[in-house]
Amino acid sequence: ATFGSLSDRLTDTFKNLRTKGKLTPSDVDGTVREIRRALLDADVALDVVKDFTGKVRERALSDEVNKALNPAQQVVQIVNEELVGILGGQQRRLQFAKKPPTVIMLAGLQGAGKTTLAGKLGKWLAKDGHTPLLVAADLQRPNAVNQLQIVGEQAGVPVYAPEPGNGVGNPVKVAKDALKFAETKQYDTVVIDTAGRLGVDAELMKQAADIRKATEPDEVLFVIDAMIGQDAVATAKAFQDGVDFTGVVLSKLDGDARGGAALSVASITGRPIIFASTGEGLDDFEPFHPDRMASRILDLGDILTLIEQAQQAFDEEEARKVAEKFATDSFTLDDFLKQMQQLRNMGSIKKMMGMLPGAGQMKQQLDNFDEREIVRTEAIIQSMTTAERTTPKLLNGSRRLRIAKGSGTTVTEVNQLVNRFEQAAKMMKTVAKGGVPNVPGMGPI
Ligand code: GDP
Repeated sequence: ATFGSLSDRLTDTFKNLRTKGKLTPSDVDGTVREIRRALLDADVALDVVKDFTGKVRERALSDEVNKALNPAQQVVQIVNEELVGILGGQQRRLQFAKKPPTVIMLAGLQGAGKTTLAGKLGKWLAKDGHTPLLVAADLQRPNAVNQLQIVGEQAGVPVYAPEPGNGVGNPVKVAKDALKFAETKQYDTVVIDTAGRLGVDAELMKQAADIRKATEPDEVLFVIDAMIGQDAVATAKAFQDGVDFTGVVLSKLDGDARGGAALSVASITGRPIIFASTGEGLDDFEPFHPDRMASRILDLGDILTLIEQAQQAFDEEEARKVAEKFATDSFTLDDFLKQMQQLRNMGSIKKMMGMLPGAGQMKQQLDNFDEREIVRTEAIIQSMTTAERTTPKLLNGSRRLRIAKGSGTTVTEVNQLVNRFEQAAKMMKTVAKGGVPNVPGMGPI
């Protein structure tokens, strides 16, 4: 999807944040640098990126402390809030006139998706109990009137088009006539489709401005194709200067474009994004919610859960102690059990791994992981005496039999556990000394 790669980049950035203690200024700088690169690569306008990262950095370094969150979560939260801000903050709904008809004018480059949007809006309004009328005031493109008529038919919404010979070539007159028509026929919303050009030009702007002046719309929606990249900012500014608009519609958000330019538009023009278009079908359209879009980009629910679980599962201090034990050969079965139990604290490891980008590659290893094994291991170790746990060499045949009985397992299972423990201890000793372990059947981990 449009923000897919931006989303992946940001998620990766957050994964590297520490979950404990305070973030150092260099942690923050590193993170901000990565965010900056991710945004620029996604085509977000430089000014917007600068402003954004500046705010994130300042807030992340300040003593803005929320006790409920760890530092990593806090940074994610700050990024989220700032992203919502870039996207316009609060949701802005379509505004209706106190006295109908409500006039909605569409403006934008040719191919931006205006005509399609007219159909989408018409259908959406009708579903909401309104009585919309679509107006064909794009008299530039040869087939535009016909296209709107087709879209109107699909949407089940009537279309006002100039009679042949009457008003042809004069979109301002068509728009004004349409308003009169709407008043007499009691249509409560009028959606005016206007002409676009492939590029911004003065004549186009003047025509749109004239239509605006003549119809005094309640909303002028600037439709912008999310795929046009960096040109989005210049185009939006040109339309703002030439026609001005009250709101933005992001179209083609279903595409594979990087989409960042579209993210800049609200912030650059100070106009809210009101709708998002996500496909060619008339139902591929929704009111825009800055907070939902930000969450979608950040995969927020997932990220926060992930950080939380990682924090619960891995106690850094504990991990350091264990590493030391490995290195000095004083790792016991009790430590082994504690490790196992910590793993279990993570809840389902599989579920957690599933939230990580790139989890697909680990799938097979994850599938081989059996949580019930931890339960069995626990039972076996708990049936051992303290001496046995500290010095596994004591475990002779009769002791193993006693342990198997006590834990409701078999001697074979007890043997397997002891072997695994010895293997793990050996392997971890290699790791602690800086080597790369090779687990039989698992490849290097
Ligand atoms: P206009 O020149 O601004 O009126 O643009 P159109 O409404 O004619 O749209 C141009 C092309 O983009 C058409 O082929 C539409 O089907 C397509 N289109 C419009 N909106 C979307 C959208 O949200 N997603 C996708 N994938 N295509 C769209």
